[in-house]
Amino acid sequence: MNRILIVEDEPRIAAFVAKGLRAEGFVPTVVADGITGLDYALTGEFDLMVLDIGLPGMNGFGILERVTIERPSLPIIVLTARDSVTDTVTALEGGAADYMSKPFRFGELLARVRLRLRAQTDTSPDDELRVGVVTLDLRKRRAYTGDREIELSAREFALAEVLMRNRDLVLSREQLLSQVWGYDFDPGSNIVDVYVGYLRKKLGAEFVVTIRGAGYRVE
Ligand code: CA
Repeated sequence: MNRILIVEDEPRIAAFVAKGLRAEGFVPTVVADGITGLDYALTGEFDLMVLDIGLPGMNGFGILERVTIERPSLPIIVLTARDSVTDTVTALEGGAADYMSKPFRFGELLARVRLRLRAQTDTSPDDELRVGVVTLDLRKRRAYTGDREIELSAREFALAEVLMRNRDLVLSREQLLSQVWGYDFDPGSNIVDVYVGYLRKKLGAEFVVTIRGAGYRVE
């Protein structure tokens, strides 16, 4: 049973996220101000935090800074307004957090929550991911199209894994950058596009679909 802390002062968004997470079997706790949010985050009683940036008391950046230092193992998903994505990405540099810009679909948040929790406690290393003819053997870190083994670099494998774990969801360049490269790169960089190109060359042009203006998806 995963306990999720939601720090969000807009009641409609907080209720929507809490209700959705509860329906999926999580145990959500909603806090509407930054100071209480930070206190809760530091208790160690939560497995993940969903964090708004604009909050009364203390803003999300302040919380992020303290939690990153004092409780670095807590996975964080930041909710941010679309027009402050650049500030948010800058603030997340080096941290373990991920972000979503508002408005977002619940399914996308859920996929991200699951991915973060799995990354945290992955106890089934012999998993296999399969989408179409592409198979990833996660234990042996090998990739196949049909029966044919395909050589992927560590980065290519990680990118394919994130896309396949989130099949049918659109992942933005920024999201892929944060999950595969961990913000080591400038968000303006085209490295994601370059690597998607490598994957298409190796796994088939149809493996990754480009969603214009939004990102990439495997389906
Ligand atoms: Ca807010």
